[in-house]
Amino acid sequence: MKAFAYVNPANEKEAVGALGPSGPQGPSSDVRDRVMLIAGGQDLLARMKDYIAQPDRLVNVKNALDATITATPDGGLKIGAAVKIADLADHARAAALYPALVHAAGGVGTPQIRNQGTVGGNIHQRPRCWYFRNEEFVCLKKGGNRCFAPAGENQFHAIFGNGPSHIVHPSSLAVPAVAYGAKFRLVGPNGERIVDAGEYFTMPTMQNVRGENVLAADELFTHLILPAPGNVKHGHYEVRYKASHDWPIVFATVILAMNGNTIQSARVVMGAVAPIPWRAVAAEKALAGKPIDAATAAAAADAALDGAKPMSRNGYKVQVAKTAVKRAILQAGGIKTA
Ligand SMILES: Cc1cc2nc3c(=O)[nH]c(=O)nc-3n(C[C@H](O)[C@H](O)[C@H](O)COP(=O)(O)OP(=O)(O)OC[C@H]3O[C@@H](n4cnc5c(N)ncnc54)[C@H](O)[C@@H]3O)c2cc1C
Ligand code: SF4
Repeated sequence: MKAFAYVNPANEKEAVGALGPSGPQGPSSDVRDRVMLIAGGQDLLARMKDYIAQPDRLVNVKNALDATITATPDGGLKIGAAVKIADLADHARAAALYPALVHAAGGVGTPQIRNQGTVGGNIHQRPRCWYFRNEEFVCLKKGGNRCFAPAGENQFHAIFGNGPSHIVHPSSLAVPAVAYGAKFRLVGPNGERIVDAGEYFTMPTMQNVRGENVLAADELFTHLILPAPGNVKHGHYEVRYKASHDWPIVFATVILAMNGNTIQSARVVMGAVAPIPWRAVAAEKALAGKPIDAATAAAAADAALDGAKPMSRNGYKVQVAKTAVKRAILQAGGIKTA
């Protein structure tokens, strides 16, 4: 690992000051960025050891950012970036209000990873694409001129989005955050700004292919803010190769606003199918006005995968994603699935 300087700011203001002109990630991110934020280090230290990230300076945010979960005046919750994933997974109030988010937190990695990883680090972890993680492959995301996935080993890559980078977003927490209509608080040298989680993650284009979100180079993420959920039913279903630890192959969060036994409106968001948490608007339309039953769930799952374009080795994901969406809907309705 390359030698680096280490800064340990005590608060948000000092952390922003320590970022200097070259920030952590965002649209101008670069594998050779000089200054990077570190929280639990679960993702960043692995990249540094593999020479994928080679910062000159690390800014530790664990002592600088909020590590609490607090109630908001509107009945929602405000989750600090430095909250450990394990603490979110164990939080009774969060579990009562946002069971899909807490379910996702409880499924991340292993107890050790959840105990070290933070909410901010989870949402900002970089892609798991094995070409990205291998220093020998200088792909588009690392300043190269090609993506190796279409002609290569694309088993775990995207089935939506059409490139030019075919990553799937790696964060388990980002998907329920979008489904619950969360907002993200960011701070930078000009103060704070609040961004909808649904607008935060960016699809790759040739102009911004190196970043995954709208965080500016001189900003950091401080809070995940969840609105009061209202009268909704929640489902979250993950499909993994191994129950012990690994990222899900595909997963889905479904939030259903109810009017009696009828679905009034729905949010359906899939994970590990696209470079961003992928909102399935066609499935949401298919659910509106229907009861929660097997036929409704199957029709919505078909609609969710309409337009998927798998590559040579990830066609299996289409059926797996349909199953995840269907089971998340049935779970929301309290209907037992296999
Ligand atoms: C075996 C294994 C299984 C895993 N399974 C899953 C899984 O199922 N689901 C899942 O979601 N994850 C999974 N992970 C990933 C793990 O959850 C993340 O690596 C961890 O959450 C990152 O958090 P951290 O605090 O350690 O981040 P760090 O490694 O410290 O940081 C990660 C990135 O986020 C940036 N960052 C950190 N804090 C901020 C901030 N406040 N603002 C802006 N940028 C910031 C850093 O600069 C860095 O680029 C797994 C990891 C392993 C090793
Ligand atoms: S999918 Fe993205 S990260 Fe992976 S090789 Fe292609 S450009 Fe690189």
